[in-house]
Amino acid sequence: MALIVQKYGGTSVGTVERIQGVANKVKGFRDQGHDVVVVVSAMSGETNRLIGMANEISHRPVPREMDVLVSTGEQVTIALLAMALSELNCPAKSYTGGQVRIHTDSSHTKARIQAIDDAKMRSDLSAGRVVIVAGFQGMDEQDNITTLGRGGSDTTAVALAAALKADECQIYTDVDGVYTTDPRVVASARRLSKITFEEMLEMASLGSKVLQIRSVEFAGKYNVPLRVLSTFEEGPGTLITTEELDSMEQPVISGIAFNRDEAKLTLLGVPDVPGVAAKILAPIGAKNIEVDMIVQNVGADQTTDFTFTVHRNDVDAAFDVLEAVSQELGAREVRKDAKICKVSVVGVGMRSHAGVASQMFETLAAEGINIQMISTSEIKISVVVDEKYLELAVRALHQAFDLALEDAS
Ligand code: ASP
Ligand code: MG
Repeated sequence: MALIVQKYGGTSVGTVERIQGVANKVKGFRDQGHDVVVVVSAMSGETNRLIGMANEISHRPVPREMDVLVSTGEQVTIALLAMALSELNCPAKSYTGGQVRIHTDSSHTKARIQAIDDAKMRSDLSAGRVVIVAGFQGMDEQDNITTLGRGGSDTTAVALAAALKADECQIYTDVDGVYTTDPRVVASARRLSKITFEEMLEMASLGSKVLQIRSVEFAGKYNVPLRVLSTFEEGPGTLITTEELDSMEQPVISGIAFNRDEAKLTLLGVPDVPGVAAKILAPIGAKNIEVDMIVQNVGADQTTDFTFTVHRNDVDAAFDVLEAVSQELGAREVRKDAKICKVSVVGVGMRSHAGVASQMFETLAAEGINIQMISTSEIKISVVVDEKYLELAVRALHQAFDLALEDAS
């Protein structure tokens, strides 16, 4: 008998019938003797609908009232699920985030959880009840309703699992796990049975949108075993853990991630003297523009080229900043290119394997794909290439690193 926290996303509770389906699933776990805490999202589309109404009234809705509004989506689902369980003679009780004492800071629409009081949940569980908690929301010190940012129900589930020291946090969604890459790009992409938190963070921040990034950080920090599974199909899903497979089984590369949302900016011919990088990036930071990859070459003629990437939405604003900086620094030229993409190979296995970078670059070269930028971390190698090569690059790398093969576990 285990204590399980389960989270069902918007699609999984998108209709009354689906909510009844979730109730059946939950009852199945109760019948096996497990204690279950369920976190639900709003019915699919509901949060967007609520935000849409607010935006019709105001360009800048008061954040406190925004949270009062959007938190209602989840409140609908918890009540309907509790009713559905009760119809199955499965005792259950629903709580909003505030009722279950999920304390957050006061940053409306992007609040952070500070503490959770597990007393109510514990007493319901020992009375044999399923505890149903509204995802995505909490309450600040002044009892204001707060929300945790889009996709925040994942974080609610992980936080509850950490507070309750649950045996597992299960995230039920419309895909059956985490894949080696996007199956829409590579048909032979394979579900991973296991992935480490570190790898999942890299995959998630690179665009694999199965889990809210913050929930993965949270789970890693508190060592909560996290499993991604399908609501609609039986299966083991993907387990996200701290444990690495033993070295015989550990693949060098676990997945290929990609991101089409970036753009590249280059300042050509800037003086190669101390302080230049800071002078270029400080005004970019001041405009709240996040910089991802940065490359600066070695200057041969007392000048150097400075290249970096930003989100595509920020490319024009960044370009304007650079034109001003370029005057000041006496740079030769400013260039921007939004038609790029970033492709990354991710895997803890590369820590103990040499030659991953060269294999990656040889694979791209064999396809005639030019690499524009490279960056590496201990468990990731990323390249920027022309966006027209995205699919080709991902497919070639998926094949070169044997990712379509069954893993051993
Ligand atoms: N309903 C919220 C959203 O759509 C929270 C969630 O689903 O996780 O962002
Ligand atoms: Mg979600």
